[in-house]
Amino acid sequence: MRFETLTIHKGNLITDSAKPVVQPITLSTTFEHGAGEMMYTRANNPNRKALEDLLAAMEKGADAAAFSSGNAAGTAVFQALKPGSHIVAPDDMYHGLHNSMVQLFAGILEVTFVDMSNLEEVKKAIRPNTRLFWVETPSNPLLKITDIRKISALAKEQKAILACDNTFATPVFQNPIDLGADIVMHSSTKYFGGHSDILGGALITKEVNPFWEKVKIVQRVGGAVPAPMDCYLLCRSIRTLAYRMKGHTEHATILAEYLLNHLNVEKVFYPGLISHPGHEIAASQMSGFGGIVSFMVKGGAEEADLVVSKLHYFANATSLGGVESLIERRAAVEGPNTKTPQNLLRVSVGLEHTDDLLEDLAQALD
Ligand SMILES: *Cc1c(COP(=O)(O)O)cnc(C)c1O
Repeated sequence: MRFETLTIHKGNLITDSAKPVVQPITLSTTFEHGAGEMMYTRANNPNRKALEDLLAAMEKGADAAAFSSGNAAGTAVFQALKPGSHIVAPDDMYHGLHNSMVQLFAGILEVTFVDMSNLEEVKKAIRPNTRLFWVETPSNPLLKITDIRKISALAKEQKAILACDNTFATPVFQNPIDLGADIVMHSSTKYFGGHSDILGGALITKEVNPFWEKVKIVQRVGGAVPAPMDCYLLCRSIRTLAYRMKGHTEHATILAEYLLNHLNVEKVFYPGLISHPGHEIAASQMSGFGGIVSFMVKGGAEEADLVVSKLHYFANATSLGGVESLIERRAAVEGPNTKTPQNLLRVSVGLEHTDDLLEDLAQALD
């Protein structure tokens, strides 16, 4: 099955003898002994199984684990490491998982944050106890690009795990496992859900090995699992993922090019632009550049906030990946210690008509 076909047919587990075309939602928390492999819904349920089979197929992995949020999924990887392990992580990454590493695992794990687009810096950060390379590409919110193949080679030398947060690219455009990653992570809240109404996370593994067994224990025993209804909704949303991503990318490209030529814009970050420093690597590992564009408004925080306040179609809200366009000044959300520029706005480009979006941006920026 090709990607579009599998997203429609794989996540649809029909357990009902009446043979509905769409899978039923199984709300039961418990299952009769002896009837099948399901026993208790924290361990498994039909809707979660459908979702996990679908996630594994989309990312070309051997197995998948669904979580109740992207943060729970990422944190499960850190929880599965032996105490005292060292992580090499990007200096620009989703701040919630950065916080997980430094707050939740302070005194338990060691972390070094480096510019992962600079291979020499990554090499310098490696320690004898480095067990995990955490990659996020494109990164949040600066859209930095990391060469997954090159980091994979370093991880193999070190006998460490390479995990990749693939939330921005989605498997429509990038398969980290094909590029050498061992584990792929997603915030399903974003493009998988696609309508800003589901919280979820996912891990997909290249192979079932002792580390993955540990991750599955964190999922089952830790219990940060999604409810059947959320699993059902995710399977449903993913059926249109390929087409939504094509639309998001087309629209983001149009907006990025518009912003690039605007007098009141200082800088545009979009990996699809030839001027983006990671463009060539992005083009070598992605088949599309995604729907997130960041840009710096000329001036400071105040000027950026003014632009946001004038927009009609772009809701000033956090999160991304929905059909509706969102905009936010990331530094305001990330707090006082952030390195994100104060005048940077991150846009999650939605599926509205691009002429409406461009007119709206024009009146706000002019
Ligand atoms: C949102 C996000 C997360 C965290 O996911 P939640 O579902 O909000 O817990 C992790 N990584 C990236 C890149 C994200 O955008």
